[in-house]
Amino acid sequence: MARIGFIGLGNMGAPMAANLLKAGHQVSGYDLNQAALAGLKSAGGTVASSAGEAAKGAEIIITMLPAGEHVREVWLHQGGLVEVAGQEGGKPLLIDCSTIDVASARTVAEAARAAGLEMLDAPVSGGTVGAAAGTLTFMVGGSEAAFARGEPVLKAMGRNIFHAGAAGAGQAAKICNNMMLAINMIGVSEGFLLAKSLGLDWEKLHAITTTATSQSWALSNYCPAPGPVPAAPSNRDYAPGFMAQLMLKDIKLSQAAAEAGDVPTPMAAHAVEFYQAVVDAGDGAKDFSVVFRLLSQRKRH
Ligand code: NAD
Repeated sequence: MARIGFIGLGNMGAPMAANLLKAGHQVSGYDLNQAALAGLKSAGGTVASSAGEAAKGAEIIITMLPAGEHVREVWLHQGGLVEVAGQEGGKPLLIDCSTIDVASARTVAEAARAAGLEMLDAPVSGGTVGAAAGTLTFMVGGSEAAFARGEPVLKAMGRNIFHAGAAGAGQAAKICNNMMLAINMIGVSEGFLLAKSLGLDWEKLHAITTTATSQSWALSNYCPAPGPVPAAPSNRDYAPGFMAQLMLKDIKLSQAAAEAGDVPTPMAAHAVEFYQAVVDAGDGAKDFSVVFRLLSQRKRH
């Protein structure tokens, strides 16, 4: 069992750290938010007073932060985690599970390498439900040796652990995944809106389509229309889940990458407008399936 430093105990990080504790690891955690720290304590973890303190003496250091700027801040800035970890005798393995741009992931991995440390980018898929159940999918970038070292710990939080390639490859897989998901959630929303105007019962539509060709994760697990999936955010006024502002961040990352690579992604470009409208309407902290409510308030003409 490992000693783990865990920084970023939000919607995802809190249940992930709880699963590490359940598996018998020791977790010392840090977050800017006091309520998150109290949650870690009640799950059996140790509360640290800074990211650096959480990392002291750790064999593995994990971050689960909102975006690239937070990840660069926590790992690289003065007294940052790379510096603290580099001073540890045992050469801890560094793992960032946040969804961030490939360039930031590679910058941090390069700083780790310069400090003589191995780092993995290991973003996840599966949402807060997967995080709580320990069934996340991890998409991992980094060396074979670092992957072999990190895999047993990732298994305490996930079911499918994929080695996607070198540093940054995990993030590349994740932005492709979320670009597809962002488009798909809008598609599912449009289907349920059309069904309503056609007088079709949403429970019936759900029962049919989850066994038909439009089956998808958004439909089965996060149905944006309230009713058919009791555990979905749509049944709790779109409490997240996965915040719309984070989905906007991810789909923008996909568009920056598509622009750089001259890749045509017209559906994703259009989807950006919808998530931007959700955020502009003040619903950025709601689950991204709230895009259904935005659409339902609009008229075709
Ligand atoms: P969140 O906002 O709930 O959690 C992030 C946490 O990081 C917050 O508690 C915040 O206080 C903390 N934080 C920010 N800056 C910090 C700093 N400098 N030091 C310490 N703590 C700091 O977000 P989340 O939903 O848990 O998402 C985290 C990451 O996981 C994001 O990159 C997101 O895109 C990705 N992700 C989320 C989901 C989901 O369903 N929520 C699914 C897959 C991936």
